[in-house]
Amino acid sequence: MTTPESRCYTHKKCSAETEVSGPEFHAMSDPLAGMNRTFCSQCEDMFSIDEFVWTDTGESIPDYYQRHGRKASDTDRMLCSNQGLLALGGAGLFIGFMIGTAVCLTIGGLTGIFIAAFLALVGAVGGVIFREAVVTPKILQRVCGVSDTRQLK
Ligand SMILES: [Zn+2]
Repeated sequence: MTTPESRCYTHKKCSAETEVSGPEFHAMSDPLAGMNRTFCSQCEDMFSIDEFVWTDTGESIPDYYQRHGRKASDTDRMLCSNQGLLALGGAGLFIGFMIGTAVCLTIGGLTGIFIAAFLALVGAVGGVIFREAVVTPKILQRVCGVSDTRQLK
């Protein structure tokens, strides 16, 4: 399946189309991302997503989220939201910090503290990457049938 690079939505109030691409398109297409406002390029402001429809299908954005997200559990939604990002980043930070502390106690001194801080940082980044690369695509595949929601219509 080919993955589109962008999609247009229409602001019902002004009938103008706005094209989304890149990370915005990723977020907008994701029924579990918890988007509730988006930008209209004509009005140059943010509005509630219930004021928008996908231009190509005419389906309202909340209906689209409802339709593709209905199989998601509360845990799925949590893990795919910013809360999930914090949770997994925090877990990684904690694990890195614990290993770092053990190393610090073994080595001691400034080098030990430096390594501990470095491992905590690596843990936090690792947690975030793990979520983006493994957790989110797996959940989306199960809930929506695709791991990249840009493929959804
Ligand atoms: Zn508008």
